[in-house]
Amino acid sequence: MKFVLNYIDGKWCESSDGNYFDVYDPATAEVIAQAAKGTEDDTKKAIAAAKREFENKNGWRRYSAQKRSEILLSIADELEKRKEEFAKTETLDNGKPLRESMCDVDDAVSYIRYYAGAIRMPSGVTLNVNDGFGPMQSFTVKEPIGVCALITPWNYPLLMGVQKIAPALAAGNTIIFKPSSNTPLTSVKFFKLLENAGLPSGTVNLVMGSGSVVGNCLSKSNDVDMVSFTGSTAVGQSIYKNAAVNIKKIGLELGGKSPNIIFADADLEGAVEWAMIGIFFNQGEVCSAGSRIIVEESIKDKFIKRLKERASKMTIGNGLHDPDMGPLVSENQLKTVLGFIETAKKEGCKIEYGGKRYTEGECRRGYFIEPTIISGCNQKNTVIKKEIFGPVACIETFKTEEEAIKIANDTEYGLAGAVFTSDGAKALRVIKEIRAGITWINCYNPAFVEAPWGGYKKSGVGRELSMQGLEEYQETKQITINLRPGKIGWYKD
Ligand code: NAP
Ligand code: MG
Repeated sequence: MKFVLNYIDGKWCESSDGNYFDVYDPATAEVIAQAAKGTEDDTKKAIAAAKREFENKNGWRRYSAQKRSEILLSIADELEKRKEEFAKTETLDNGKPLRESMCDVDDAVSYIRYYAGAIRMPSGVTLNVNDGFGPMQSFTVKEPIGVCALITPWNYPLLMGVQKIAPALAAGNTIIFKPSSNTPLTSVKFFKLLENAGLPSGTVNLVMGSGSVVGNCLSKSNDVDMVSFTGSTAVGQSIYKNAAVNIKKIGLELGGKSPNIIFADADLEGAVEWAMIGIFFNQGEVCSAGSRIIVEESIKDKFIKRLKERASKMTIGNGLHDPDMGPLVSENQLKTVLGFIETAKKEGCKIEYGGKRYTEGECRRGYFIEPTIISGCNQKNTVIKKEIFGPVACIETFKTEEEAIKIANDTEYGLAGAVFTSDGAKALRVIKEIRAGITWINCYNPAFVEAPWGGYKKSGVGRELSMQGLEEYQETKQITINLRPGKIGWYKD
């Protein structure tokens, strides 16, 4: 059995009480590793190391931006060299098809390089200020925030980690990283790269273990200056509350229930394929998934027919054999998704395709499910209101543009949305009405490090990726210089 450890203050260590938790391969339901189960003591030790290191006069934040950038670039090079190894581990732990894991590693490399470059770009502004007290010049500089706690989910384990770690380190912060207990293995590998890159000990810390222990301790700590969290809205709410204790900076990337609007004048074949990418990619375990497909009534039958035909050709299997869909991440997630499908049936929706656990051939023990298409949904249905986080496409219909917009926005979430039409003006008109942070026209789901990522409403606070994703890990300091030092005669002498 493989044992993986926490990395605290430059050392690989067991948890303080010696406990481990099981790590599963969701394709076989077998335990593939045991991971050190971090305790509150371990978490506090990691926080203390990160705080000490942030305050160290020769610490990471005192390194020049150029030096930090070079170290980050060396990490990206190493990750790139070991792409296949990382991708295979990701697929083994999470279940996703190997080619999707390969894309994740490519993206992770690109994110690190982007932030390594970004930190060397000009930052801050010079300000033309009022000279009532004599000639003054103001300008701003960007500084790191301090100790950053980074907490991630299981759907893109390596990528979500790097999405936070790269900008946090580029900015000069010290970090404590807590990956999801479902998928800790690529994080451990990535920390080995960090260890070899020559960061001062205490700069980066990895604490695995349960969110209610490790995550809770991080968000409550007075010595943590920022929490960046990606995960469910419910956990995001508890972190938001805890963060108030010392007015931590906060970044929250939460759930979604995103609308994918398809007008009758859209290229049907393109719309069908992108809708599949929107809801079946990564087994539908995607925060931005286009889980509500809102189709113009006049093409509903044609659209559903093509979607079913194409879904029926999708291959399902062990992610290592690179099918179109691998297993869901865990037995729990499988139960949750199947539960939603049962509820849809009870509420009178029609299962057009799939809907069942998949147990053919090599899939008999793992947590596989058929790609599922549900029609006849309306705004009252549970599957329309709640995030499912599985390959379940729910179809609603509309008759007018206004109705499409109304349905699209009738949700507590606001993460993403898309419009398919061949009318350019209509596309832009509708997309501007969608209350969401990430939108697409005639495509679904592409993400770029150059473009900000984050949500409106209950989908979160702040943005990741892009230059804004770096600024989230920085404080802005204003500096004002008196250009004529000396007495100004404000008070009588
Ligand atoms: P989750 O249950 O909220 O867990 C996310 C992380 O938070 C895990 O590491 C978890 O640890 C930890 N956690 C649990 N309870 C905590 C607490 N009380 N305090 C601090 N941390 C705690 O979410 P998930 O099931 O892993 O991921 C799916 C969710 O993530 C979906 O809602 C999805 O929409 C969202 N997501 C959003 C984005 C985005 O960019 N907006 C991207 C990806 C995913 P343990 O599970 O190890 O206990
Ligand atoms: Mg796993």
